[in-house]
Amino acid sequence: MKIYLDNAATTKMSKAAIEAMLPYMDGVYGNPSSLHSIGQAASEVLTNARKQIAECINALPEEITFTSGGSEADNQALISAARIGQRNGKRHIVSTAFEHHAVLHTLNALEKDGFEITLLNVHENGIVLPEQIADAIRDDTCLVTVMYANNEIGTLQPIEAIGEICRANNILFHTDAVQAAGHMHINVKEQNIDMLSLSAHKFHGPKGIGVLYAKKGIPLASLIEGGAQERGRRAGTENIPAIMGMAAALKESCAHLDNRAKRLHILRDQLIDGLSQIPHSILNGDALNRLPGNVSFCFEGIEGESLLLLLDDRGICASSGSACTSGSLDPSHVLLAIGRVHDVAHGSLRLTLSDENTEEQIEYTIKTVKEVVAYLRSISPVWRDLADGKREFIIK
Ligand SMILES: *Cc1c(COP(=O)(O)O)cnc(C)c1O
Repeated sequence: MKIYLDNAATTKMSKAAIEAMLPYMDGVYGNPSSLHSIGQAASEVLTNARKQIAECINALPEEITFTSGGSEADNQALISAARIGQRNGKRHIVSTAFEHHAVLHTLNALEKDGFEITLLNVHENGIVLPEQIADAIRDDTCLVTVMYANNEIGTLQPIEAIGEICRANNILFHTDAVQAAGHMHINVKEQNIDMLSLSAHKFHGPKGIGVLYAKKGIPLASLIEGGAQERGRRAGTENIPAIMGMAAALKESCAHLDNRAKRLHILRDQLIDGLSQIPHSILNGDALNRLPGNVSFCFEGIEGESLLLLLDDRGICASSGSACTSGSLDPSHVLLAIGRVHDVAHGSLRLTLSDENTEEQIEYTIKTVKEVVAYLRSISPVWRDLADGKREFIIK
């Protein structure tokens, strides 16, 4: 038996998504740019998918650009906003220290091109305050980019309030909503969002497809040149099967959003309560203001990597943080941003749920994590020093 608790890394495709894709692999296989009937049939379904996705976030169809995923959407949003800023003599960007690397690395590149970046530190609860944004913006700020929900610790950010500040100051506001789409209600109009990224494989759709929403009138810079697809904003023949799978997955996720969230909240809190019983452990991020399916802990005196391997032996697929940082020995930048020291950040565990998880699985997981943490501590020299009082516990 496998218990999959790594849904923030990727999700299993839903039946609805797979079924929605199949007809576009053999039946309607045309290129939407072709003028003949087979091409035009593909063009028609593309129009419908765009409309469906737009409706899920209260956008207009022409505000939707298909990309290869969340990373590309983030890159395109930031580079587009930077070019607009540059034309107006504005070269300052505000963001946070715990963004996804698709945002942080793009900001690094922009910094080398002469932009000035302010990265805000977040509070220990993993939430940035609108006042911090208000204090950081300047006359030459062209963009504020703050993620909707953090991919490691699941905390939800005050998007609507940040959007309001940006709107009042005539600054573009982008949000990386990759973890939120399909899991939280999104309404780009009511939430004052100018640009938003989402990715299908985080809500039970296929990998390699995503969306950049950009409010009407915002000129997007094309990162891929070569054709007039996506109204000149992204060249390349559209991946129709993936787009159809994404549209079906988003529609299904949004239709079941409240029911699933209600169920996940219960499982999540059961897991948090159970793991909190482990001595010298700490929950990362606010206990309530977090994604319905996210649980993130640090355990003192252990190595996150060893924990993952032993959990996998016992059938539990988990993560130490983001899929992108695992494999490197650096502790997660997210955990450091909320003030965890290196030693503590190394002992992290992220468990992210889906609707397929059951109460029995959660009970088994609590029992197993408790056993494995106790075992790892029993063989850890660091733990012995802590237990003998030769070192002081950081997590009380
Ligand atoms: C997964 C993820 C991305 C990257 O999306 P891809 O489609 O895998 O490129 C970006 N931002 C966040 C917050 C994510 O969780």
